[in-house]
Amino acid sequence: MRAVTRKNSGKWTASILFLFSLLVFILFVPYELNAKETPFPPDSLDDFIKTSGIDTGAVEIGVSVKGRPIYAVRLGKGKKYALVFMACIHGNEKNTAVMLAAVLKSIRKNPVISGEASCYFIPVMNPDGFQSNTRFNANKVDLNRNFPTDDWKKDACKGDKPVPGSGGSAPGSEPEIRTLTEWLKFEIKPLHERVLVISFHAAFPPSGCVQPAYIKYGVPEKASDEIARYIASHTGYTYLARWVSVIPISGELLHWCAVNGIKACDIELPNYRAPDYVKSKKKKSVLAVQGNLIRNLIRQIDGLFLNF
Ligand SMILES: [Zn+2]
Repeated sequence: MRAVTRKNSGKWTASILFLFSLLVFILFVPYELNAKETPFPPDSLDDFIKTSGIDTGAVEIGVSVKGRPIYAVRLGKGKKYALVFMACIHGNEKNTAVMLAAVLKSIRKNPVISGEASCYFIPVMNPDGFQSNTRFNANKVDLNRNFPTDDWKKDACKGDKPVPGSGGSAPGSEPEIRTLTEWLKFEIKPLHERVLVISFHAAFPPSGCVQPAYIKYGVPEKASDEIARYIASHTGYTYLARWVSVIPISGELLHWCAVNGIKACDIELPNYRAPDYVKSKKKKSVLAVQGNLIRNLIRQIDGLFLNF
């Protein structure tokens, strides 16, 4: 009798465990909707260019260490504002490029750009890193530590760990960074009264985050700060005045922009997944959130930001 009871209770335990696992699976295992748009992650840069069409109507503003093109697409003819959206300065953060290319495609179909603004899209700032799926460029330099700034360091940090040589051999030593800084300084700034650069990264923290440009590390530049706070409230991402590491970051875009009279923000996407991935039907995809944000920034750039 006792043996039979034990057998039954074993069956019950197994059934309960099975039902519990099923419940956990249904509740917590994410599923994908609409994951059809772009093959993700793209196999190669050439495939990505072909499927996304980022070279259509684009200007080749420069080339990478290995001679790969860096494309910028301009939409709109406005002179007052230049909104520059760039992605994938870290080559392994491919979802930023796929997201930006998809937003570019949708804005081409349904333009939202006023007569006052021009938008520039650079979906792949680090083509060699994109191709090899590495953070660094082909010279093993972290491009977002190579900007010619007063705080540049040869052995730049990733987190709080110095990575020997990752800042480059000199400030602005890398062709990708010379391309970007010269293009912004000598082509974009003279054409427009005000310039805003938004640079997309992935992926930390899981909430996503936004950080404004700064003249001094940790002390945000005023207009960039206002824009960063708008982005945080619009997306639900965390606002950060400085990055989470203890050691200040050296030679990065946010500092170079502020010193050169350009407003800027970094946006960290919350994950590395395909941008049209959704965790549940109730959550919006990164593509939906960023598409909405970019459209609103373009629409509202005139008048929304007091200090801009
Ligand atoms: Zn990054």
